[in-house]
This record gives sequence, C-alpha cells and structure tokens, in this order.
Amino acid sequence: MLPFPHCPACRGAAWRVLGEKTYRSADAAVKSRYVQLRYRVLFETWFPGEDAVRIESIFCEQCGLIIYRPRPESADLTAKYHRLLELTAADQRSGAVDRRVEAARSEEVYRHAERMSCRALANSAVLDYGGGNGCLMQSFQRRGCRCELVDFVDTPREGVRKVGDTLEDLPADSRYDCIVASHVFEHLTEPREILEKLSGHLQPDGVLYVEVPFEVWGKPPLLEEPVTHLNFFTPSSLRFLLEVSGFEVVACRLSTSLHPTNRRFGAIRAVARRPSGGLVIPQVPDLQEAEQFLSPDLLRRGRRDFYWLGLIGGALRDHVRRLKRRLGAPLRKKLPGK
Ligand SMILES: [Zn+2]
Repeated sequence: MLPFPHCPACRGAAWRVLGEKTYRSADAAVKSRYVQLRYRVLFETWFPGEDAVRIESIFCEQCGLIIYRPRPESADLTAKYHRLLELTAADQRSGAVDRRVEAARSEEVYRHAERMSCRALANSAVLDYGGGNGCLMQSFQRRGCRCELVDFVDTPREGVRKVGDTLEDLPADSRYDCIVASHVFEHLTEPREILEKLSGHLQPDGVLYVEVPFEVWGKPPLLEEPVTHLNFFTPSSLRFLLEVSGFEVVACRLSTSLHPTNRRFGAIRAVARRPSGGLVIPQVPDLQEAEQFLSPDLLRRGRRDFYWLGLIGGALRDHVRRLKRRLGAPLRKKLPGK
C-alpha cells in the first residue's frame, strides 16, 4: 500500500484531501455478503492485524482524478483477486445469473460503442478486456464478431476465446477492431499503463470503448468498502486519462448503465481511437467540473433529477409499448386481411 501515491493519470503529487473514512472490522457483521468478503480482503489481506483502517479521499489538483490513500499497488490488487476467487469459488459454481440482464447489458454496450464511434462493428475482431467470463460479448457474437477475452476468470462464455489473464499474455501482434473495457478502469492501480498497452493492440482504425461508474456526486466518494473501486472519474478526468495515454477521444459523456442487479446507475461512457496523425495533446482538464459534481448547485441537482425522471419515463413507456404489443397481438390476428 502506498501512503503517498502519485496520480495514476498525470503522475503529479498535488493532492487535496476531500474527506476521510475509517473502516472497522467489527462492522462487517451487519454488512451484506458482498461487502463482508471485501472486508475480509481489507483486514486479512491488505491490512492484516488491524481492526480499523482509515483512508483519505484525495483529489488531483492537476487532472481532477479522485483516488484514495493509502493506495493499493498492483501486488495488492493481485492478492485481492486471488483472495476473492478463493472466497467465492463455491458461490461461482452455484451463483445464479440473470441471463436477460446480461443480454440487455451486452446490447447496450454494443449499441453505444457503434453509435458513439460512428462505425459499424459487425463481423469485427473484438477484445473484451477485464470482462469476467465475456458475457458482454454476446451481442457482438450475434453480429458475427470474433471475440477474445483477457481476464483472470477461467470459464469464458461459449464462443469467446480467452487469450490470457493479463495483457502480457497477448501476442504482441494481436490487433483488434474494437476493444471493450466496461467497468474496468475504476478497479486498476495503473490505468494509464494499461491504456498505453491496449493502444498497441488496436487496428489503425480501431476503437476503444470504455465505461466507468459515475460516483462523484454530492460528497467525496468514500464507498461502503474501499476494496472494489480505486479510481473515481468525472467525464473530464476520464477524457484526460485517455488523452494522456495517447488516445484521441471521439466522445466522452455522462450516461447511465444497467447493473447486473437490473438497476440503473450513473456511468461515464467514452469512445477513443488511435490518433490519425502524430501525438495527442491532452486538453486542459476541467477541474471545476469535479467541484460542481461534489457540491452540485440546485440547477445541477434539478438537471440530474430531470435526467433520472426521463429515464424512468422512458423505461415505463417501453414497458407500456411491450404490454400493448402483447395485448394487441391476438386482436390484430382477428382482423381480416392482417
Ligand atoms: Zn492527476
């Protein structure tokens, strides 16, 4: 664990402390099973022998990225994944997965990647980086894509070829038309190094699709457990990370995404590509943006509520349309000539 980390995006060390939180092992008893497992990683693997761990949420005054300290290093992350795999081995065998939600999430990723990049992705070569068993690839597979996976999970979905645990396992000459990294970069200790490596595996006209949760809202992102997410983005700091890693950002915006629990949460989606000519000079990060999200004014709060209402409204309309279709189908059959 690093007590005084450098910024994993801009490599600066000018931090502002946003807040702090102390996690106590005694509190684990009242937490959900998911959080209890992360508490075990925190108190047994990362800080063995401690009863309480205090972390500070810190804001990079150069690029606006928010992380916390002490910050896990890559060895801590590897230890965490091995420990979680051990602890959840039994769960994974019996774990029930909602296939319809998986299919809907996959379709969402496919459509956003295609729409935001303004290019057709059918029949292309796709890499799912950090995608678990590759369940997000099903919409790509259905459209004739050749899908490969880099992840520690050893049981890839049928038709998805696992090429390794990490990018080091990938042959140097592997190139993809599209790389998907959905809900990955919030977990990584060295997101910039990973992006630089991924860039080398894109075809010259290939696209990178990135999705991260949006968790900077109203207060410092000190979550229920500090083991799962290490990096907290705003659209501006994600854009900066992509640019400083050598990508040209095609689009980067606030959105919402479907969670495996079938609930919608705020998310940031970005599409980037290799620059067509020369180097990318990163835009100056908008540090005000994070401030505004941390202490949103009434207008911003209103806009967000309006956005959520719009989403709920949209979901309701979809539901009504489906119901109407279902009810209308037998009626239509009776109409002559139809
Ligand atoms: Zn920074």
